[in-house]
Amino acid sequence: MKLRPHHLLCIQKFTGKGYDAAFTAHMTAVCAALHDRPDTSVTLTAGCDDVCAACPHKAGAECDTAEKVQALDRAVSEHCALQAGMTADWTSLKNIASAKIFHTDAFAAVCGGCQWYGLCRETEES
Ligand code: SF4
Ligand code: SF4
Repeated sequence: MKLRPHHLLCIQKFTGKGYDAAFTAHMTAVCAALHDRPDTSVTLTAGCDDVCAACPHKAGAECDTAEKVQALDRAVSEHCALQAGMTADWTSLKNIASAKIFHTDAFAAVCGGCQWYGLCRETEES
């Protein structure tokens, strides 16, 4: 599976709310697949990924809010010492993201500007 770095966070906080029905159904399937197969190999990518595939904000090969999401990717990469091109199993990556961001002050710094932050703040990571 290909994931952009900040989606290591979003997948853990997903509660069934998304941009539209198609996106939400796809995100639900991605989360279920990772939950069922936590050893899934994940390669980090700098651009659109397997979550973006069904998103109404995907415009060609990039997100129509590219500047915002690239900043999120950079922040997650820096806090977690990860970079595009790295491959690891889902459990390892989600544990790094959880430990370095959700369980530190970095959560507000990284995610504070996101429209979903209030909801994610209240949601236990899965
Ligand atoms: S296309 Fe943009 S808004 Fe949609 S899931 Fe990808 S990064 Fe997020
Ligand atoms: S606040 Fe936004 S970027 Fe952060 S985990 Fe939630 S949806 Fe993802």
